[in-house]
Amino acid sequence: LVLHYQPQFDAFTGAVIGVEALVRWRHPQRGLILPGEFIPVAEESGLIQAIGEWVVDEACRQTRAWHDRGLRRVPVAVNLSAAELHRADTAGRIAGALQRNGLAARWLELEITESALMRDIGRARLTLQVLHDMGVQIALDDFGTGYSSLAHLRQFSLSALKLDRSFVRDLETDVNDAAICRAVIALGHTLGLRVIAEGVETTGQLVFLRGNRCSAIQGALFSPALPPEQVAVLLQPDYVAPVAPTLPVPLF
Ligand code: C2E
Ligand code: MG
Ligand code: MG
Repeated sequence: LVLHYQPQFDAFTGAVIGVEALVRWRHPQRGLILPGEFIPVAEESGLIQAIGEWVVDEACRQTRAWHDRGLRRVPVAVNLSAAELHRADTAGRIAGALQRNGLAARWLELEITESALMRDIGRARLTLQVLHDMGVQIALDDFGTGYSSLAHLRQFSLSALKLDRSFVRDLETDVNDAAICRAVIALGHTLGLRVIAEGVETTGQLVFLRGNRCSAIQGALFSPALPPEQVAVLLQPDYVAPVAPTLPVPLF
């Protein structure tokens, strides 16, 4: 397994504000296999726990290594599967990974989906509360595609919402998707959460998101997921994404 990292950018300045760790399987014959192909199988077979443990540890190790090289310090986001969320020892294992790698908890963000929360709400609330108290940040991934429950937003100790790629994709042509994006951004901000737009591929989408004050952007327009050596280039302290300054900043 290898981790690639997709940078997240400030929509207004073009600076890197975070990275998301995305696992890949380097297959001897088939090349690089994306997680959509093997994570569901790993979840069914129980292998996901071992994979998840490795992912958290490796993401912490890499982030600390970037810090030690004097690169821009940004949090690393790691996707947590439902199986991991509902294990009693998950918070303890994550604390162990942070400690082993000498990384402060504030540099780790965990991404969870609503459907993962729903499997065992009581256990999830407990685990997330312990992680939150440790200083780990929690983001709700793929928001809008699951239950989109307002109760969850209030009940769990969340720091961020990730606006799902499926709404961002057509927001320039579909008035309903545009309305959903606007509503999710406003909802998140009203609740004091960061809102990160996923899958931003076009300048038009960026302009729309900026106009709606969504300042955190992840997507192919700025950068796909990259191997760590290439991410290091974008983490140079003075790097800003070239596309940002050429765009008009909307007046609010
Ligand atoms: P996700 O957490 O929603 O991650 C975002 C996915 O969208 C990534 O796909 C990313 O490469 C892709 N993406 C980002 N920007 C764009 C864009 O502009 N256009 C398009 N077309 N795609 C974009 P990826 O790497 O294939 O990951 C798919 C899913 O697999 C992730 O969705 C996540 O749910 C899961 N996953 C990835 N790594 C892990 C892991 O370490 N553990 C667990 N449990 N799940 C993981
Ligand atoms: Mg994610
Ligand atoms: Mg997502």
